[in-house]
Amino acid sequence: MTKPCIICVAITGSLPTKANNPAVPITVAEQIESTHAAFEAGASIAHCHVRNSDQSPSSNPELFARLLEGLREHCPGMIVQFSTGGRSGAGKERGGMLALSPDMASLSVGSNNFPTRVYENPPELIDWLADEMQKYKVQPEVEAFDLSHIHQAVSMHADGRIAGRLYVQFVMGVKNATPVDKDIFEYYCKTMKRLSPDSEWCAAGIGRHQLTVNEWAIAAGGHTRTGLEDNVRLDRNTLASSNAELVLRTVDICIRHHRPVATWQQARALLGLAEVVS
Ligand SMILES: [Zn+2]
Repeated sequence: MTKPCIICVAITGSLPTKANNPAVPITVAEQIESTHAAFEAGASIAHCHVRNSDQSPSSNPELFARLLEGLREHCPGMIVQFSTGGRSGAGKERGGMLALSPDMASLSVGSNNFPTRVYENPPELIDWLADEMQKYKVQPEVEAFDLSHIHQAVSMHADGRIAGRLYVQFVMGVKNATPVDKDIFEYYCKTMKRLSPDSEWCAAGIGRHQLTVNEWAIAAGGHTRTGLEDNVRLDRNTLASSNAELVLRTVDICIRHHRPVATWQQARALLGLAEVVS
């Protein structure tokens, strides 16, 4: 049977605001409602950031706790993934919510440039975040903004700093980082297969590249990410009406490529996560 495709929905992020697209969920209540619709549409992972009431990014564990509680109640079985990305806080603040034991958390394993600044991930902070994830039984999703990050992920998995099934996301199309380039994408796939044949990978494209990278990942047998964090439009002239609408267009690509969309049970099995949500 063809491997099911896990669709991750990145609901909010730390950058887009209501001014970019009124459908971006900002309050915890909006996030729960938006995620629920995306879950019904076929997403099995929710990648989450939280915001202050003025829409600015936050690393407040209390907001994460309310979101986790709401998602467990309204989207039972869905994999909840918190972002430990650097736009929402500095240093160890980035991992302050890991004690809540979400199913997963994003983990950056190297530094690179972002559109207007350096995305700093010093080795000591990476190891601390990875360690906290093990302590609280949180499965990392490694964010690969660069080829060196794939190699780093594999070596952290080999030496035990990352436990369980290795899951790496290729992030393409962030300005000043890796572009959306098919040769690079194919080399990433080949490298994952060569260095870590038992791992799983997914891919995300930023802005107008979202659809392109969704298509590449689904056709190549990987998993993929959509959602308003990465892209607020359906096409150049149309704003996406919801996260669910972006999930549905990803489901359509899966249908075209004869990939079943992973249920939350299948997604948990593929990623080596517990079936039962505590
Ligand atoms: Zn994010």
